[in-house]
Amino acid sequence: MKKIVMFDAKPYDRESFDRLQSQYDFRIKYFENKLNPDTVALAKGADAVVAFVNDTIDEQVIETLHVFGIKILALRCAGYNNVDFTAAYGKLHIVHVPAYSPYAVAEHAMALILTLNRKIHRAFNRTREFNFSLNGLTGYDLHGKTIGIIGTGKIGRIFIDICRGFGMHVIAYDLFPAEDSDINYVSLDELLKRSDIISLHCPLTKETHHIIDEKALNLAKDGVVLINTSRGALIDSLALTEALKTGKVGAAGLDVYEEESEIFFEDFSAIVMQDDILARLVTMPNVIVTSHQAFLTNEALANIAKTTLDNLNLYFTEGDLPNEICYQCKTRPNCDRTHNRPCF
Ligand code: NAD
Repeated sequence: MKKIVMFDAKPYDRESFDRLQSQYDFRIKYFENKLNPDTVALAKGADAVVAFVNDTIDEQVIETLHVFGIKILALRCAGYNNVDFTAAYGKLHIVHVPAYSPYAVAEHAMALILTLNRKIHRAFNRTREFNFSLNGLTGYDLHGKTIGIIGTGKIGRIFIDICRGFGMHVIAYDLFPAEDSDINYVSLDELLKRSDIISLHCPLTKETHHIIDEKALNLAKDGVVLINTSRGALIDSLALTEALKTGKVGAAGLDVYEEESEIFFEDFSAIVMQDDILARLVTMPNVIVTSHQAFLTNEALANIAKTTLDNLNLYFTEGDLPNEICYQCKTRPNCDRTHNRPCF
């Protein structure tokens, strides 16, 4: 029986993995700690590690896992910007869950738009205090508005369908536009200039880091609504805060935040928030911050657990490893692996 150590495990993770555990020859030990150089010692004696979005899989962690004889790390998420792939190559196989429910994330992006535009969060608070005034709650019809979508992969394309269902004009920017699609691709600058709402659905890479910065925001329409369900560092949050203060950005729905790793998924309600930018954003009536919860549906959790355990099972039974990402895959964002075998 293989010993699996899972980091950053929350009750909902345990539930979905425990439900499937008996179907595999695995014993899973759960730790609430995030994986980082200080906690990696907890993995000693394990055969594999399962990690999540805000775990630190840097050179030091990889080296220690290598010394422990651990050869595989399974990310129970799609994004992998927290992995040092150069350090991992040849030592640690990294597998991920490429898709678990793109619907969950796309639907959450629309939930943020609808809540911000129709001010549902403010109405909820008002009516709980028997304040039935409508002043300040005016929204606009989404029908006929232009939405700019950056990144037209699995989530972006489902989100496009949702937006079209609302009668919105969809324009998109992608470094690798989908061939044979009916998506109206434009340049990034044109998207910024024309969009009433901008939604980010691309991965965090060197090229996309701060893709929405002061310069980009200056190009955008006055009052643009910004939605980010991808990765926090796609947006320069200081520039966003300033643009919200001047009204350049009319509203922001943020499921991710660039400094989220030490904050999100934890309860800080009794502690003074030390992150001034986040504290400022949270005070704004036209900003909604959710704690990286876009993925959190029953369907997604079940799919994450199944794919993660299947990935590990394939590795241990020397099967194909279709969900592996390696140094070469990483340097080519749309890695066209023609093989399913382990990368090294
Ligand atoms: P995907 O790989 O299917 O699609 C990503 C798209 O971005 C691709 O079309 C790719 O060509 C494009 N892209 C790559 N580099 C680009 C660039 N420089 N400029 C513009 N476009 C670029 O990924 P997906 O499954 O649709 O997920 C998108 C992102 O959503 C993930 O990278 C992840 O960060 C995020 N995500 C968030 C949550 C959450 O809970 N908030 C859950 C899952 C995924």
